[in-house]
Amino acid sequence: METTSQRGIQWFSTCRSRQHYYLAECRDSNRFVVRISFSLSHPLPQLDLTRRWVVNTEKRTYDAIVIGAGQGGSPIAEAFANAQRTTALIERADIAGTCVNTGCTPTKTMIASAAAANWVSRALEYGIEAGPMRVNLMAIRDRKDSLLRSVRAQKRTHLEGIRGLDIYHGEASFVGAKALEVRSPGERSIALTSETIIIDTGSRPSIPPIQGIQDVPTLNSTSIMELTTLPEHLAILGGGAVGVEFAQMFRRFGCTVTLIERSSQLLPQEDPDVAEALSSILSQDGITLRVGFAVKFIEQQGETIRILGAEGNGNLCVLCSHVLIAAGRTPNTDTLDLPRTGIKTMPSGHIEVNDRLETSVPGMLAIGDVTGGAPFTHISYDDYRILRTNMLLGGQASTANRIVSYVVYVDPQLGRVGLSETQATAVGVPYRLAKMPMRHVPRALETDQPRGFLKALVDPDSGCILGASVLGDQGGEIMSMIHVAMLAGLSYEVLRDSPFAHPTYAEGLNSLFSSWVPPAGGTVTRQPRAKTFNCVDREVAGAKHRAFVQSP
Ligand SMILES: Cc1cc2nc3c(=O)[nH]c(=O)nc-3n(C[C@H](O)[C@H](O)[C@H](O)COP(=O)(O)OP(=O)(O)OC[C@H]3O[C@@H](n4cnc5c(N)ncnc54)[C@H](O)[C@@H]3O)c2cc1C
Repeated sequence: METTSQRGIQWFSTCRSRQHYYLAECRDSNRFVVRISFSLSHPLPQLDLTRRWVVNTEKRTYDAIVIGAGQGGSPIAEAFANAQRTTALIERADIAGTCVNTGCTPTKTMIASAAAANWVSRALEYGIEAGPMRVNLMAIRDRKDSLLRSVRAQKRTHLEGIRGLDIYHGEASFVGAKALEVRSPGERSIALTSETIIIDTGSRPSIPPIQGIQDVPTLNSTSIMELTTLPEHLAILGGGAVGVEFAQMFRRFGCTVTLIERSSQLLPQEDPDVAEALSSILSQDGITLRVGFAVKFIEQQGETIRILGAEGNGNLCVLCSHVLIAAGRTPNTDTLDLPRTGIKTMPSGHIEVNDRLETSVPGMLAIGDVTGGAPFTHISYDDYRILRTNMLLGGQASTANRIVSYVVYVDPQLGRVGLSETQATAVGVPYRLAKMPMRHVPRALETDQPRGFLKALVDPDSGCILGASVLGDQGGEIMSMIHVAMLAGLSYEVLRDSPFAHPTYAEGLNSLFSSWVPPAGGTVTRQPRAKTFNCVDREVAGAKHRAFVQSP
């Protein structure tokens, strides 16, 4: 609550999270904020030169406003501020969005712990006698939390230090086409306006319309990572990427796990052979799979949760101790009051954008998950690149022809890039298919990670790669090599004929395409456009130097 306001200095008396402190805030032309704070518990004044959370009540106009400090929101706000445009960044939760706080970073940190458990349980297979294993969930959580704290703090400090960028901690909603209000608990709302508004509000876990679901204590992808004890029997509703990652993680932590998917296969977006191979891997790992299982009703009976549904022609009941709902995500548009802006949305609630990420209202743009595009961190970040190019650098960038890749972090990983067979067939794109089991890759045998396969779709005319699925150890890294080949427009023959180092997984790409018989009289294929460098040893002043020289 603001109590006094003098020229240049504003005094606040405010109460935040049980810590009562007095605050002096000094502004430089209403832009740069210096704060002196002292709390009752720590009476020594603390000078804070970098803190930029703005807590006043006046109406302010900015050159640009960004809603959501997520994967694309933070960097685009920074880019505007660095381009000398007055910029406001509004965030209702923690800086850095879903990926850092509740998505990629925490899950992959915990998956690393699950992988460690798996190595210990397989130690004997490698000739190592390890002692009895115990999973310490609190230590796993501590490891995750300490990484999150440091990444978050680093990002927050970075943003707070950017001159020209004001950060508002509160929830934004529209009061007009180019006018917003920001509300935060215990504070008066603040009115902001700008001719340029970028929406990066992301998404949150969906709750499917299942009878009884509101009366049962369910978990979502965020709360499951805050459990203090391991579930005895975890049932997961949803066999998409989030569902399969948590299924394997908790199985490796020693829980009984049942994975329930409504469609006829796990990972419904993927080709059936990929889903089938993954299903058999997860079954081997001891996870009970229920695919084609339509959940109708959930109820709690004492300590047990009953999940009732239909599978095939019969009714089925799964009894468990905990339920994780991993049934997709809902865009964060419902609290924005978008009808006041005229911005068009889809029936799903996602914001409609064109390939320059412009909404139906000029000057208003949307990026990341909230647009309903591929829901990945690197895509939200790439959306930022497009906006920066078009809005600040005078370029012409678009989402058209962007090659999308992603990884599902099960073990073995599923790396995906470009078209799948299902997609190619649906849009009538002709392709040749190369497919090979991972056990044909020497590296996979040496490391005893032979599960999975590689497959790639190739354009029959040009030989360029159209897409690939790599289900295998390091599948994400192998897929990324194919991604680079696609970006460069390389023919599959270049991957077939390049002497990749032995023994690497990359070498598998030689074999993947070698099953196709080369045309008679064929040669070793090198990309004609590519520059090649030879390594030569030269003697300079009596000493030998190794140098790389470009081939003619
Ligand atoms: C469990 C899990 C694992 C994942 N793993 C991966 C992975 O391995 N790889 C990958 O690429 N992606 C992964 N993702 C997806 C990835 O996290 C998202 O695609 C990405 O974070 C989306 O970024 P964004 O910029 O669109 O939105 P977000 O990062 O979600 O940022 C949106 C921000 O807007 C804020 N906000 C919303 N509404 C308002 C409002 N009205 N006012 C103010 N602020 C608001 C939110 O608090 C949030 O901070 C995962 C997601 C989950 C849930």
